[in-house]
Amino acid sequence: MNYDKKRALYDQYGEAGVKSGVGGSAGAYTTNPFDLFETFFGASMGGFSGMDQTAFRTRRRGAAMKGEDLRYDIILEFSEAIFGAEKEIVLSHLETCDICAGMGSKIGSKMRICSTCGGRGQVMRTEQTPFGMFSQVSICPACGGEGEIISEYCWKCAGEGRIRVRKDIKVKIPPGVSKGSTLRVRDEGDAGPKGGPPGDLYVCLDIEEISEIQRDGINLFSTVTIDFIEAILGTTVKVKTVDGIGELQVPPGTQPGDVVVLAKRGVPKLNKPSMRGDHLFNIKVTIPSRISGQEQELLEELASLRSNSVRRPSSHPNTKTQIDTTKRSQKSMEAQDSEQEQPSQNDFWQSLKDFAGSVANGALKWLKDNL
Ligand SMILES: [Zn+2]
Ligand SMILES: [Zn+2]
Repeated sequence: MNYDKKRALYDQYGEAGVKSGVGGSAGAYTTNPFDLFETFFGASMGGFSGMDQTAFRTRRRGAAMKGEDLRYDIILEFSEAIFGAEKEIVLSHLETCDICAGMGSKIGSKMRICSTCGGRGQVMRTEQTPFGMFSQVSICPACGGEGEIISEYCWKCAGEGRIRVRKDIKVKIPPGVSKGSTLRVRDEGDAGPKGGPPGDLYVCLDIEEISEIQRDGINLFSTVTIDFIEAILGTTVKVKTVDGIGELQVPPGTQPGDVVVLAKRGVPKLNKPSMRGDHLFNIKVTIPSRISGQEQELLEELASLRSNSVRRPSSHPNTKTQIDTTKRSQKSMEAQDSEQEQPSQNDFWQSLKDFAGSVANGALKWLKDNL
């Protein structure tokens, strides 16, 4: 992600890194020649490794450096991520001191020429090594390359130029965001040093899960259990949707693992909320393990009725597969995601036949219908 890249860059080249690098190298020369080689040939500008030349020049000219980006994590409720929300967050960030405009010095006070570098902002070091004399120019550790030093500090920020402020910020979460989405709030990061422009605030989103509805992109998935009679005759089931309780029409002859779709009851598309995904219901069919005497009689009557009207050879294997798949349809929804990914392979279709009535089959059927 962009944020991480930026973050890494800052960690590498940021102000803190630069400062400690300069401070650390001051008088820290050792007689180990390998350290010296690294210093000379490793980094482009000798002493202040990790800082590029442009950054150095802008600092010398006194141009303002941009402040640091900040990260804030928010956990959204399931429905907030779907329909959007307005979140109020309390942020702690650095703002430019309004008294000294970020300069850190008392109003009207004069800057003093740095005595360490004589105002040049750079210091030269010469070291005797086993290879001879080495000279090196580096940023003045006393003034940080400015050439000047504050003589009287600003009373409000004590010379820092920035003050830590707690701020309430309203963040508008658009509909359709997903786990891991990042929103950028411009200019709400830390103010830059010496009145420099602020960085940005990155709001990283996590989303709570709920047990009844799973989400995959813009589509939602649930499981509905119906009785085998209902599966044969068809029924209407009350189901939980993100819009409240809805009615799901289960058509007659529904097989275990079939998927019934409530179209446009899914998640709105991010940045295009007029488009909505679907809510898919995986149908589970329960076969009673115990039945009453009267039911037994009726079912036997039904059985004899069917054996007379239906051709035996085709009905028997059919029944067998169904028993097989009822067991398999207990498999969790996770199987669906991985199996959905490569629907083009031949043996995949073959293996799907064995799974007739499984969740994957239902979803693929839906995909085929919808593509
Ligand atoms: Zn100040
Ligand atoms: Zn200096």
